[in-house]
Amino acid sequence: MTPVLHALAPGKVNLCLFLGPTRADGLHELVSLVEPVSLADELTLQPLPSAACVASEPGLTSSPCAAGDDEIVCAGVSGPNLAAAALAAYRAVRGWDGPPQRLEIVKRVPIAAGMGGGSGDAAAALRLVAHAAGHPGDPAIAAIAPSLGADVPGQVAPALALVGGAGEEVVGAPARAPHALLVLPSRERLSTPAVFREADRLRSPRAPDEIAALRARLVAALAAGPELPPELIVNDLEPAARSLCPSIDAALEAARAAGAAQALVSGSGPTVFGLFWGGEDATAAAEEAAAALRDRYPGATAAHPVDAAFAAVRTVPGGAAP
Ligand code: ATP
Repeated sequence: MTPVLHALAPGKVNLCLFLGPTRADGLHELVSLVEPVSLADELTLQPLPSAACVASEPGLTSSPCAAGDDEIVCAGVSGPNLAAAALAAYRAVRGWDGPPQRLEIVKRVPIAAGMGGGSGDAAAALRLVAHAAGHPGDPAIAAIAPSLGADVPGQVAPALALVGGAGEEVVGAPARAPHALLVLPSRERLSTPAVFREADRLRSPRAPDEIAALRARLVAALAAGPELPPELIVNDLEPAARSLCPSIDAALEAARAAGAAQALVSGSGPTVFGLFWGGEDATAAAEEAAAALRDRYPGATAAHPVDAAFAAVRTVPGGAAP
């Protein structure tokens, strides 16, 4: 029996995000500390048994890849799927003409919510298809990733990273002091470009010299030890996200009231996360907070930082995902 390949696609939070000016290509400069977390989508890849499988099931969206007859099944995402683009790009760049594949994505990372779910799925799809093509860890993945989106390169081998440029400059960062996270997804969605436009309207972007100074402070703090100075735990996109989605304010307040040392919006929002510093006690506190808030925030969950091993491709001989 052909093995099924399985991989997790971690969502991410931005422990900080400093917004700079718009570049010539229209994208904003930013400096961010991006942390992959255990709240993750689940992906399985296997050859399509026959062309008959292309019919999609009710409630699921299906988008065939241009470079093959691959099928993506991903409930909750309508329209083109970034993971489909990833499969097509891999086939095109590597000239891989393996059998049509079925990629199934179980979404757990909130959609259009500032946690990089689409980019994470695209990166995981690259890891999976390279494996299926017989080239696990194919260096071509790193070359393909930037063409799929500025946030994809950082998710190819998920790890805490200092991100620059418009998201495409990714440098590994030493782990922070132990902590757990409380994640409060919103019922609303925010379009990333709309949040950046709102940030411009609110004049949130900082001047180039200020961005350079903040980056230098962040680099020094990362080198100095595992603590992250609270004054650097800031997201410059937060005012714009709150302006477009006022219910964020209550979520920030709820996370703080539940015991989070810091609460902020992740990326372009509207997901809010709280930080609980410490080991097992912090994990228990984040889990307790999530349970207490689940009535008001149905997707409330506790999470923890993860690394590339968490996201590695696994072979499932019997077919079912682990
Ligand atoms: P960004 O990475 O721009 O910050 P985000 O994290 O806020 O985005 P995503 O969940 O990645 O949000 O979704 C952004 C848009 O991408 C959605 O509106 C959705 O239609 C589209 N999309 C395409 N593929 C996917 C996918 N696999 N998962 C989620 N969204 C996807």
